[in-house]
Amino acid sequence: MRVLILLLSLALVSGAADSPWEEKFRSIPDPQNLREYMQRMSAHPHHVGSLYDRDNAEWLLAKLKGWGLDAHIENFDVLFPTPNERLVEMVEPTKFTAKLEEPPVPGDPTSNQQSEALPVYNAYSIDGEVTAPLVYVNYGIPADYEQLARLGVSVNGAIVIARYGGSWRGIKPKVAAEHGALACIIYSDPRDDGYYVNDVYPEGPERPRDGAQRGSVMDMPLYPGDPLTPGIGATPNAKRLQISEAKTLTKIPVLPMSYGDAQPLLAALKGPLAPESWRGALPITYHVGPGPTKVHMKLKFNWDIKRLYDVIVRIPGSEYPDEWVIRGNHHDGWVNGASDPLSGTVAEMEEMRGFSELLKQGWKPKRTIIYAFWDGEEPGLLGSTEWAETHADDLEKHAVVYINSDSNGRGFLGVSGSHTLENFINGVMKDISDPETKLTVWKRLQLRDLARPGSADRKRELRTRPDIRIGALGSGSDYTVFIDHLGVASLNLGFNGEGGGAGVYHSLYDDFYWYTHFADTDFVYGRALAQTAGTAVMRLADDELLPFQFSDFADTVRTYVDQLKRLDADQRAQTEETNREIDEGAFRAAADPRKSYATPEKNPVPPHLNFAPLENGLDALVRSAQRYDAARKAASNTQDAKAVNAKLIESERRLTDSAGLPGRPWFRHMIYAPGFYTGYGVKTIPGVREAIEQKRWQEADQQIQRVGTILTKEADVLDEAAAALRK
Ligand SMILES: [Zn+2]
Repeated sequence: MRVLILLLSLALVSGAADSPWEEKFRSIPDPQNLREYMQRMSAHPHHVGSLYDRDNAEWLLAKLKGWGLDAHIENFDVLFPTPNERLVEMVEPTKFTAKLEEPPVPGDPTSNQQSEALPVYNAYSIDGEVTAPLVYVNYGIPADYEQLARLGVSVNGAIVIARYGGSWRGIKPKVAAEHGALACIIYSDPRDDGYYVNDVYPEGPERPRDGAQRGSVMDMPLYPGDPLTPGIGATPNAKRLQISEAKTLTKIPVLPMSYGDAQPLLAALKGPLAPESWRGALPITYHVGPGPTKVHMKLKFNWDIKRLYDVIVRIPGSEYPDEWVIRGNHHDGWVNGASDPLSGTVAEMEEMRGFSELLKQGWKPKRTIIYAFWDGEEPGLLGSTEWAETHADDLEKHAVVYINSDSNGRGFLGVSGSHTLENFINGVMKDISDPETKLTVWKRLQLRDLARPGSADRKRELRTRPDIRIGALGSGSDYTVFIDHLGVASLNLGFNGEGGGAGVYHSLYDDFYWYTHFADTDFVYGRALAQTAGTAVMRLADDELLPFQFSDFADTVRTYVDQLKRLDADQRAQTEETNREIDEGAFRAAADPRKSYATPEKNPVPPHLNFAPLENGLDALVRSAQRYDAARKAASNTQDAKAVNAKLIESERRLTDSAGLPGRPWFRHMIYAPGFYTGYGVKTIPGVREAIEQKRWQEADQQIQRVGTILTKEADVLDEAAAALRK
């Protein structure tokens, strides 16, 4: 009874931040439970199609039902290739065959489960057999190929070897194929996640000599999800493409390897010295090639359809059942997957246990809450994409917000997402206690950012701007379909920054033993994640007016527009300067005449772009954002919250365009997208930014118009929301 009275009085005061239900919830998640769930779910490899992946889903379902929740499993059938034959051998100047195997590690009890595990490979590489000279291409991103051209080296007809890092891995074979390479090897250099960084496993957290990074190389910047069912759910009877029609498989065969396997190949390379920034931490002199290293590579896959097991929970809303707050984390791993993804999955489970306790005590969330434990994230965001494509019509009508997490570590809360939620999530962060310092999570983050080197302007902003800025979402986890395809405002949350550990990512060694020795060893940050995400969900489900705020969003878009104008000006200045240096003979004079060297070609000077349509759209947005936020502050008692909320939900949808981005219509959001040549890394206002970067000026002009119109439409919906508030 006391609780009820408190609730009523809070609801009268404001949008009910920090209700007694929230405090009750935050006392529930228990590190001991997180530990037990992780130990159970990581006991065996649990990749898509494995027995233990299904077993985990069924165990999870039983747990959720045992807590009295309405849970079910939703299945999808997706293309998931697994290796049948993997061979990489050096045939010249000496013979060497790559092991392509991760051995057991003393003391680690699950590191001997090779027979249950997927071997080291890249999913959605095509089959192929190639014998060709090897060329080292650094990270294998577009800028590296410009550098190669200056060295007079072509990869046409070669096998390239790239190191992990610098971009999402799928970009490396894509760019290599664009330059005429026949195959691609991706290896983990100790400089990036091995002994150069820290001690290696099992003495320390980083990648040992024979550890390798599995991972998808599907062309996800085109569209993620099942390659055979773009845009529709991969339900059992869905109309499927032929494998030969799928656009997201690689163009050339690609395989990852450890530095133990890569070292002999690289050590035998001659040709130009690798530029200084290209050199890794192997005890060799890095040459680029081509030759004399010649490699024979053969890859064959089983192109099977495998079943996914998404576990879905529904808690119906008491007042606004048609408004859905959605939360997700995947449960499938590449191998035992303790950090990625179970450290996040187990937090999500404790949120569920917490909610079930509150429901038993009488909590009645106003909105419908949907919790998803996705399958098939690792191969290509399969479980989330297929589910969201299947339910797209409902989600477009009902989805309020999607909150994602994935791997969780120790340290500082990382937040990326829709900037309409920046103010909201800052509020949540002020109510969560940091386990190590007992500061609030918000305060610790602010002080950490202050302690970092930065300009005086940046420090002033950190002290005076009420909200800490959040990052924009690129891709790399299950929020992608929600934000980029459906225009559902989204957030991605996770603690990190202490303890390192990139070095076991997607390897056999990301397991319970590793996690409990080197990551969030006592699971207190797992508890903090459950508290953070659970609090966010509760607040979104219970606030009478949805907590969207637009001044932060408009301020952020302003920074993007400024960046674009600077990008255009810098590109023009740089092209003019380089052309001039070519005319002056600077490159020729600077080159060592005894070495091969190619002078860069002169480029056309980029035209001045007309940013006025974007500026006008932005001005309208800034004005409307101020009007809405002011109306929101002044509104003491809203007659028709439902009408206002409908407009707020629509605000993120209006940032999308059904025709999508140029050349990739699946990606409909006009403010955020993963870069076509970065893969995970975000490109903000992507239509304009990528057109400028790729020197397509006419397209840049068209996209500026288009985004200007989108911003104007966004301003309209904010005005409509403000008008509904005043009623
Ligand atoms: Zn993950």
